Amino acid sequence: MQKLLIATSNAGKLNELSSKLSSANIEAHGLTEFPHIREIDESGTTFLENAMLKAAGYAKQTGLLSLADDSGLEVRALDDRPGVLSARYGGTSLGFAARIELLLSELDRTNDPARLARFSCAMAVADASGAILFISEGICGGRISRDPRGSGGFGYDPIFVPDGFDQTFGELPQTIKQEISHRARALEPIISFLARFYRGLT
Ligand code: IMP
Repeated sequence: MQKLLIATSNAGKLNELSSKLSSANIEAHGLTEFPHIREIDESGTTFLENAMLKAAGYAKQTGLLSLADDSGLEVRALDDRPGVLSARYGGTSLGFAARIELLLSELDRTNDPARLARFSCAMAVADASGAILFISEGICGGRISRDPRGSGGFGYDPIFVPDGFDQTFGELPQTIKQEISHRARALEPIISFLARFYRGLT
């Protein structure tokens, strides 16, 4: 098995990514295994910039090949907000139910009937010197529901209806989300890259 650091402390994200990576013979390690590591600020203005900052910063500190991602929700009628601020939209003191209410009230004020939105995810792989070896981006298009529905998933899942479905990510089985999500789409080329890399072909 080849070792890879997944630059996240989020257990759900680590599980989801490690199960897909293990099929490519890759052993994923999370940030919680490195309790003294210095946190890398997500100070970029795009998902890709943040993914690259984190991949390089954590690879240099651990000496491990590292995969980092950054993702969020972009709502067309809100000029792509909350975007890179998705996790902190409305301030860090807000809970997620309040954050969703804020977004719904802002969107209602635009009177946009289409309510188009997308989840975006950028991923980057860096080596121990901090060099970026590979990047990828994945998108899952959809629209914002009128009200929150369902209790599955996390974050904005209860108000996001992916293209081709009538239910929100909060209502749909997680197995469906894991097939069509922005993260799944960004991960696919990463897995092919890592398989080539570990075989010494890249
Ligand atoms: P992260 O930085 O990639 O962990 O994600 C930033 C924020 O984007 C999260 O805190 C969520 O608010 C939002 N987000 C990203 N992916 C998803 C998803 O799959 N469902 C719901 N919200 C998400």
